[in-house]
Amino acid sequence: MATGTLTIDLSALAENWRALDRMSATETAAVVKADGYGLGAGRVAKTLAEAGARTFFVAIPSEACALRAALGPAPVINVFAGHQEGCTQALKDLNAIPMLNSPEQIARHTSALPDHPFGLQLDTGMNRLGIEAYDWSPEMAEGATLVMSHLACADEPDHDANSDQLRAFLEMTAGLLVPRSLAATGGTLLGPDFHFDMTRPGVGLYGGLPFADAQSVVTLELPVIQTRTVQPGEAVGYGQAFRAEDTRTIATVSAGYADGLIRAMSGKAQLFAGETPCPLAGRVSMDLLTVDVTHLERVPDHLTILGAQQTVDQLADAAGTIGYEILTSLGHRYTRVYA
Ligand SMILES: *Cc1c(COP(=O)(O)O)cnc(C)c1O
Repeated sequence: MATGTLTIDLSALAENWRALDRMSATETAAVVKADGYGLGAGRVAKTLAEAGARTFFVAIPSEACALRAALGPAPVINVFAGHQEGCTQALKDLNAIPMLNSPEQIARHTSALPDHPFGLQLDTGMNRLGIEAYDWSPEMAEGATLVMSHLACADEPDHDANSDQLRAFLEMTAGLLVPRSLAATGGTLLGPDFHFDMTRPGVGLYGGLPFADAQSVVTLELPVIQTRTVQPGEAVGYGQAFRAEDTRTIATVSAGYADGLIRAMSGKAQLFAGETPCPLAGRVSMDLLTVDVTHLERVPDHLTILGAQQTVDQLADAAGTIGYEILTSLGHRYTRVYA
């Protein structure tokens, strides 16, 4: 089959959750939004539940659907987007808990689902989602299952924003008896001051930075479907962006930007034949990559673009983006193998 093989190492995923869990004395939840960072929310969540996770976070209520089906009724599913208009039925049916992020949402929730649990999301300086300090009063937290906020710069341990947001969170939640959560992956690594009652890592579970000690979860192998000799002066691919100065061997590989290998990688990223790097030659097209394999003794039947040789963050660097975007862009044409 001329399609790539995306292998997802579920034991590495579980080990990453356990490693992050060992870093704090509090509950470790799991963020599985965007289809489990592109790796399949159902499989991911089931594995993490077996490892011990009891609380899961998604971005929007529709993502809770696959999750509830995979997890059964017991685990807690929290929704970052809160209680938006039109979402009441989904929250109710899926028994998902909205993290309410404005006075309007609190009013909507209280009138539409008065007996349904809710959490609160506070803005402590990121100015993205959450109740602002000037709208906030601690009475709002009465009956809440969780009060949370999110750090803007947790991947930069020395950034002033971390202590500023910590101080703001402490001030806004002083005296509350409700469980609190501030840390995602980055915040978990910042240490116990940031852990409160629950950490909620995402990207570190999937092998991404800032969790530098994470085990690699994703391997992506792409089949070589044609090999040719390119003569000096000949060009390869769209726009003739690669031109051979001397005789080159070019392998054409089945995967492209429609599979999440974004066009910004053109001329920058490399694939691997075993341990040997092989640079892209020319532009990434929708379904194909062209790779310079002149230096190989033998052209293998596949090349590896993600794995122990190259992490999601290293590939992301080549494309000028972050590991999160590489993961959540992984396409649907790959054969997915859960190992
Ligand atoms: C995505 C997200 C997380 C998880 O962040 P990672 O950096 O992937 O660990 C946690 N909390 C909120 C509010 C998020 O949006």
